[in-house]
Amino acid sequence: MINNNHIEKANFRRLIENDKLGAVDERLNVIDTFLDTEAHVTLEDMMRLLRERGYDYEPDFVRQCMNRWVKHGFAQKEIFEGQPPRYEHRHLGKHHDHLICTKCGKIVEFGNDELERLQIKIAAEQGFHMLQHKMEIYGLCSACIEKRIPLMPLPMAKAGERVVIEEISGGKNARTRLGSMGLRPGDVLEIINNNAVGRLIVGHGSTRLALGWGVAQKIMVSLARQDQIP
Ligand SMILES: [Zn+2]
Ligand SMILES: [Zn+2]
Ligand SMILES: [Zn+2]
Repeated sequence: MINNNHIEKANFRRLIENDKLGAVDERLNVIDTFLDTEAHVTLEDMMRLLRERGYDYEPDFVRQCMNRWVKHGFAQKEIFEGQPPRYEHRHLGKHHDHLICTKCGKIVEFGNDELERLQIKIAAEQGFHMLQHKMEIYGLCSACIEKRIPLMPLPMAKAGERVVIEEISGGKNARTRLGSMGLRPGDVLEIINNNAVGRLIVGHGSTRLALGWGVAQKIMVSLARQDQIP
């Protein structure tokens, strides 16, 4: 990729000088640091990268610089679910979308012409002229899938995940009780919420079930494969 960083930096210098903002060198140091990374950085990442270069600035100052950079169209602010805002370079005319790992936060960029065309077509079919879009795919990255424990008690699953009931521990009583709720080995559950105090909300087919923590611990599950999801 052609590196236009020096042009970007010169443009930005002109902007901050025009705006009579002061602290020009400090602002340029922030921008330099940002331009040298190709990652999707949070404010915290920026603070760390700056410290590594020996710059100790106030977070508010850095945030302000980044937001100004966004405002002028040099950077893009992305808000992915469950993560603090991230900044990335904005290369004019080059669009990409994201895959986000809900476990480790890894972000992968992708571009797919077929998908882009399909989105324009879908919008047009609804009478929309598409101006912009964001495609975000949430899931587990390959490293996180490998690290996954194959069998875990249900409460360890995260909201949004689909799991398969592998076995029900805790003897006949537990099996009977769960059986009366319609839960059997091989069934797929969708974790709707496991933040609620003392219970877990899961989707089972078209019904929602609230399971007490104790009983949920007895359900051993594994992550559902794509072909197991109904
Ligand atoms: Zn796209
Ligand atoms: Zn991951
Ligand atoms: Zn990106």
